[in-house]
Amino acid sequence: LHFTDLHLDKPLTDALLEAGYDTPTPVQLQTIPQALQGHDLMASAQTGSGKTAAFLLPTLQKLLQRSDKPGKGPRALVLTPTRELAQQVEKSAQVYGKNMPWLRTVTLVGGTSFGQQIRALGRPIDIIVATPGRLMDHMRQGRIDFSRLEVLILDEADRMLDMGFIDDIETIVAATPAERQTLLFSATWDGIVGKLAQRLTRNPQKIEV
Ligand code: AMP
Repeated sequence: LHFTDLHLDKPLTDALLEAGYDTPTPVQLQTIPQALQGHDLMASAQTGSGKTAAFLLPTLQKLLQRSDKPGKGPRALVLTPTRELAQQVEKSAQVYGKNMPWLRTVTLVGGTSFGQQIRALGRPIDIIVATPGRLMDHMRQGRIDFSRLEVLILDEADRMLDMGFIDDIETIVAATPAERQTLLFSATWDGIVGKLAQRLTRNPQKIEV
């Protein structure tokens, strides 16, 4: 099976071709069709499995459709446990979204200056990639409008909980529309991460690779 069989739109299949990707990885093969159908997902996937493309490709495909909601807020939010992972996700979004020149991605992580982030948040946004702590800083200042949000992604959800982000995650999720699509990625669903997943998703498709 090839990427061309996954019913992704041409800007995405072209970008994959240019990136030298030919065959989807197992997690991509299972998650992309389900996500494109609009399902919520609980996917068990490790680093290196190709999980970033697994959540970014269906998200970008959604962004290729015009939003019917007014406003400037993000249409997709990716939460990651660390700054490094957030920066990797942003890089991947640039690779897979290279034929979507209008795409605006903002990365909100700690250890970087607020000024540039604040300026970026004043302009229209398609995707926010963030660590929970820094996103909460901006939310407390009233800088984030989630009324247009269509897709919520938690990458390495178990690690985010291990790092103590449960309260931040609950607060962030409570600020997003209930009718969103939720894509959760985690190495395990044991303990509180499984309970969190139950609360955040509706009829999730469970994917094990
Ligand atoms: P990830 O698990 O998302 O961190 O991806 C691991 C690495 O695999 C990244 O360097 C990706 O660029 C690469 N990658 C992801 N999907 C594919 C694919 N289908 N074919 C070739 N390389 C891929």
